[in-house]
Amino acid sequence: MSAGRFPLTALRAEETRRRLEAFLAEMGAPAYRARQILAWVYDRGARSFEEMRDLPRELRAALAERFAVHSLRRERETPAGDEACKHLFLTREGYPVESVGIPVPGGATYCLSVASGCPVGCGFCASGAFFHRFLAPGEILDQYLLMKAAGGRTPAPSGIVLMGMGEPLLNWRGTRGFLAAIGADCAVGARRITVSTVGVPGRLEALGREFPQVKLAVSLHAAEDSVRAALIPAAARMPIAALMAACRAYAELTHGRRITFEYVLLAGVNDGPRAAAALAALLKGLPAAVNLIPYNPVAGAAFARPAEAAVAAFAAALRARFTGAVTLRRSLGGAANAACGQLGSEPARSRGARRRGGV
Ligand code: SF4
Repeated sequence: MSAGRFPLTALRAEETRRRLEAFLAEMGAPAYRARQILAWVYDRGARSFEEMRDLPRELRAALAERFAVHSLRRERETPAGDEACKHLFLTREGYPVESVGIPVPGGATYCLSVASGCPVGCGFCASGAFFHRFLAPGEILDQYLLMKAAGGRTPAPSGIVLMGMGEPLLNWRGTRGFLAAIGADCAVGARRITVSTVGVPGRLEALGREFPQVKLAVSLHAAEDSVRAALIPAAARMPIAALMAACRAYAELTHGRRITFEYVLLAGVNDGPRAAAALAALLKGLPAAVNLIPYNPVAGAAFARPAEAAVAAFAAALRARFTGAVTLRRSLGGAANAACGQLGSEPARSRGARRRGGV
């Protein structure tokens, strides 16, 4: 996107339509062109005005001088060899934003980012090693639209997870604006969207109140404060007791909507039978499921993936005490550094970045 041009996805489609109509009136062009342009952006996957072939050439040129189609620029795709595909986008300042298309039966789950880097600074996550800035709603939406337009290696979306770079509930403005826009402007049902969070005071309740159909995943990773705070520096601001109270409030607000608790298994840190028992005790009484994620290696991080036997033993110990579903995540994308916790491993990340821990 060139500096100074207004991106069409920066505003909700209705507001953009009004802005386009004003421009078309200036140009002496009919107002119906605004709807035609928006259909190209939202339904037909246009990435430039040049692709909007049913608009007069002069109008396309005039539009390209005043507007950009998207806020983000698509830089490259990296297939992982297991059908997952990582997409690298750049913001107007050149900051990297990565998203992943993960194949699932009937389509793909689009894992989107809400920031370039992440200020939470989890030690096991590559995104947490740097932070440039949070993304605006239109920049989160652009990842969805541009991945969908890319087609090819990334099938049509069947679900969206905000589990890429950044903590969605810390970027509440971006997340909230995106959730509103994806429902209204792209007709994606809230039940197909999952928001993942480490927990931010007040925001779980806000999510449950404003978007009760959106699914919630809580990155727990430990049932004891001392272990959790060592893994997630920002967790010290929301101790486990407060997080569980917020989860209970969320469950009430959403009439018992099930919460998925994400648990990254780190060898020798949180993968023993005592940790499994503590986790089962913590979740007792909540409408909960647990998703176990064996650690995906990140360069420079001092963690190791548990052996398969240890993962199986942890799952068995948990299942023996916990009545909810326990699933084991099949991580895809590792060959392209696109698996859980690996986004942001590319060298471009460090340009002008702040160190992590700035929450
Ligand atoms: S795991 Fe999530 S919250 Fe933690 S640093 Fe990575 S992106 Fe941020």
